Amino acid sequence: MAEFFDVVVVGAGISGIGAAVHLQRECPDRTFIILEGRNDLGGTWDLFRYPGVRSDSDMHTLGYSFKPWLHEKAIADGPSILAYLRETAAEYHVTEHIRFQHMVAAASWSSDTARWTVSVSGRDPIECNLLFMCSGYYSYKGGYTPEFPGRDQFQGQIVHPQDWPEDLDYQGKRVVVIGSGATAMTLVPAMAADAAHVTMLQRSPTYVVARPDRDVIANKLRRVLPEKTAYNLVRRKNIALSSFLYGRTRKAPHKVKAKLLQMTGAAVGSDVTRDHFTPTYNPWDQRLCLIPNGDLYKAINRGAASVVTDHIETFTETGIQLQSGAFLDADIIVTATGLQLVTVGDMDISVDGRPVDFSTTWTYRGLGYSGVPNLVSSFGYINASWTLRSDLIGRFVCRLLNHMTATGTNQCTPRLRLSDLDMPARPFIVDFSSGYMQRMMPLLPKQGDRDPWRNPQSLTADQKLMNAPVDDGVMQFTVAHQRAPGRVNA
Ligand SMILES: Cc1cc2nc3c(=O)[nH]c(=O)nc-3n(C[C@H](O)[C@H](O)[C@H](O)COP(=O)(O)OP(=O)(O)OC[C@H]3O[C@@H](n4cnc5c(N)ncnc54)[C@H](O)[C@@H]3O)c2cc1C
Repeated sequence: MAEFFDVVVVGAGISGIGAAVHLQRECPDRTFIILEGRNDLGGTWDLFRYPGVRSDSDMHTLGYSFKPWLHEKAIADGPSILAYLRETAAEYHVTEHIRFQHMVAAASWSSDTARWTVSVSGRDPIECNLLFMCSGYYSYKGGYTPEFPGRDQFQGQIVHPQDWPEDLDYQGKRVVVIGSGATAMTLVPAMAADAAHVTMLQRSPTYVVARPDRDVIANKLRRVLPEKTAYNLVRRKNIALSSFLYGRTRKAPHKVKAKLLQMTGAAVGSDVTRDHFTPTYNPWDQRLCLIPNGDLYKAINRGAASVVTDHIETFTETGIQLQSGAFLDADIIVTATGLQLVTVGDMDISVDGRPVDFSTTWTYRGLGYSGVPNLVSSFGYINASWTLRSDLIGRFVCRLLNHMTATGTNQCTPRLRLSDLDMPARPFIVDFSSGYMQRMMPLLPKQGDRDPWRNPQSLTADQKLMNAPVDDGVMQFTVAHQRAPGRVNA
C-alpha cells in the first residue's frame, strides 16, 4: 500500500516552508509531508550562488508574517535569506517534514478514492488528498539562454547565473554581462570590485531606483519596541509605501517616469540616463530594478563598469560583435538572460486518466484551477514581495481543508457556474509586459472578469478575495465520486 498523507506540499522554498507552518498551526489534525527535489531547502535562495546575490524587495515584506526579520539590512544578501529560511524551518519544526531528493514527476487524481497518486522519481509513489504546489515558477534544470550566433567560437568562459561555477576566477578579467534585469544589475557592481572591467550589455533599458539597503526606521523601532511589534509596524509601512508607489505608476505614469529619470540623471548624468536608463514603456509595466545604495551607479561612475545598449551580431573568439559595428572584448561572458519558466512543478498532471492542459483552465482565486480537484498552487506577486501572497494562500488553503473537515467532504473542485460561461478570458497576469512573463502566459490558466476567477495581483484586492467565504457557490464540495448537479465541467 502506498504511503498516505492528507496533504503533499511540493517544494521547500519560501512558499513550502510557509505552507507547512500554516498547516501545523491552522490544521493540526491533518498530516502532511514536503517533497523537495533538491538536497537542501530554500529553493531560489539556495540555488542562486552568483556574486552579490540578494533580494530586491525588503525583507520586512519578503519575510514571513510570523517570523520577524531582525537583521540591520532590509535588502539582504542570499546567504542571510537562506539562513533565515533554515532558522524558520527548524524553529517551526518544518525540517523534519521535508523529504529531500524527492523530485515529483507526475500526479494523477482519482475521483473514486479522492486521492492524488504522486509519482516521485526513483521512489515509491505517495498518495494524498490535497496537492499543494509550492514549486516556484521556473525550471531548476537550467536557465534560459537565447541562441547566440557564433557562441561556439568564443574562446573564453560562458556562464549562466543559475549555474555559477564555485571557482570562477574573474579577478583582472574583462567581463560582459548580457541582460538588463535584477540579476544583471546585481552582478555588475559585485563583479566590478575585482574584474578589470564589467560591461552590462542590454538590448533595451530598464527603470532603476536606488534605495539604502538599511531601513533606518526599522532599525530604530527595533531598539525601542518588542521585536514582533516593530516588525509588524515596518511591514505595514512598507506594504503601504510600495502599494502607494505602484498605484502612482498606474495613475500618473508620466510623473513617476520623470521623477525616476531625474533621480538616475542626478546619479550618473543625463547622457548615460538618456542612452541606457530610459525605457520605452512606463514604470512597472515591466519589473522595476532596485539597486541598494546606488551600487551600480557607483561602479559606473568610477569607471569599473559601463552599460552598452545594442544588439548582438555574433560571438567571436575574443568577444561580442555588435550590430552597431562596435566590438566588446571579453574573457568571460555572463548570460543573465533569465529563467526557463514552468508551471505546476514541470509535472504531468492528470484527472481521472485525462491529462490536464492548464492553459485551458480558469484560475480560481489565483491559486486553484477550474475542473481540477484538490490542487492548489502558491504564486506570489510580481510587483511586491512574493511572501505576501504565499502567506495569504497558506491561510486560505487551511480554511479550505477545515471546511472539508467540518462538512465531511473530501473533494473540492472549482467549477464555472452557468452564468460564468460568457466570461471574457484575460491572461493570468495583466499589465505586465516583461519578456519572461510573456513567455509564461500561454502556460498559465486564464483569469476572468469576476470573483473568484480573478488574479488581481494586488494585496488589498487579494485580502478581500481570500477572506471571502470558502463555500462561495463556485468551489464544489463533494464526497469521493459524487457531483453536485447543475454545474459545468470546465
Ligand atoms: C535571483 C532571484 C531573486 C529574487 N528576488 C526576489 C525578491 O527580492 N523579492 C521577491 O518577492 N521575489 C524574488 N524572487 C522571486 C522568488 O523566486 C520568490 O521570492 C520566492 O523565492 C519563491 O519561493 P517559492 O518557494 O515559491 O519557489 P522557489 O524558491 O522556486 O522554490 C521552489 C522549490 O520547489 C522545488 N521543486 C520544484 N519543482 C519540484 C518538483 N517537481 N518536485 C519536487 N520539488 C520541486 C525546488 O527544488 C525548490 O526548492 C527572486 C527570484 C530569483 C530567481
